[in-house]
Amino acid sequence: MGPPGAGKGTQAKRLEERYGIVQISTGDMLRAEVKAGSAIGREAKAVMEAGKLVSDDILVRMLSARIARPDAAKGFILDGFPRTVPQAEALDRMLAEKNMALDAVVELKVDDAALVARISGRYTCAKCGAGYHDSFQKPKVAGVCDKCGGTEFTRRADDNATTVASRLESYHRQTAPLLPYYAAQGRLKTVDGMAAIDDVTRTLTGVLDALTQ
Ligand code: ADP
Ligand code: ADP
Ligand code: ZN
Repeated sequence: MGPPGAGKGTQAKRLEERYGIVQISTGDMLRAEVKAGSAIGREAKAVMEAGKLVSDDILVRMLSARIARPDAAKGFILDGFPRTVPQAEALDRMLAEKNMALDAVVELKVDDAALVARISGRYTCAKCGAGYHDSFQKPKVAGVCDKCGGTEFTRRADDNATTVASRLESYHRQTAPLLPYYAAQGRLKTVDGMAAIDDVTRTLTGVLDALTQ
């Protein structure tokens, strides 16, 4: 968990490689629906562009179908879900049905002031989805993806200063209340997300390794 631009996607991709379990990003799933022009995509598009949250009903149905797929059977890293109390309650029910439980809920803590710079410099490889930043995470060779050699990149329609303000407001009002919910369950781990990317990964994997030993 963490506000937009905190580094959730960046760190989740690294955890995916380290622990051999899939990243499930509800933002990526919704963007794929929008691109495909599906019924969900048509409903979600304007909401996402306004920086508001898509309905709990859509998210819960989407996530429930996603975690039923075989690649999620041995576990998964949720990135961007849950974002509201009803989503968290639905997740508890879905996991209980599968005899699964959350090992940890990680909060990436980043000051609001740092987020606009992170979001406005964010871009992604169009071919493989690897994430980059104009100043903080450049590819080794300019214009060429480190991971796949792709040379086309995309920027998100909602990564602009106006939408960011609304997304931050949604985070503080609707998502941050989940932190005490998970703290009360003894699952919340808070990691300093202000540090450099590699340092955040080191702290994060330290926390998670300690849990799995
Ligand atoms: P960020 O990386 O900036 O945190 P995401 O890619 O996770 O953003 O999400 C992009 C947008 O997709 C959100 O602003 C919201 O409109 C929608 N979205 C993603 N996940 C959820 C969710 N769990 N509940 C409601 N809306 C969501
Ligand atoms: P989120 O998924 O939480 O919205 P991202 O992982 O997409 O955030 O990161 C947002 C942007 O900030 C990306 O361009 C990424 O390269 C960059 N970034 C991620 N973590 C850090 C960090 N610790 N320091 C500086 N930039 C970062
Ligand atoms: Zn790539």
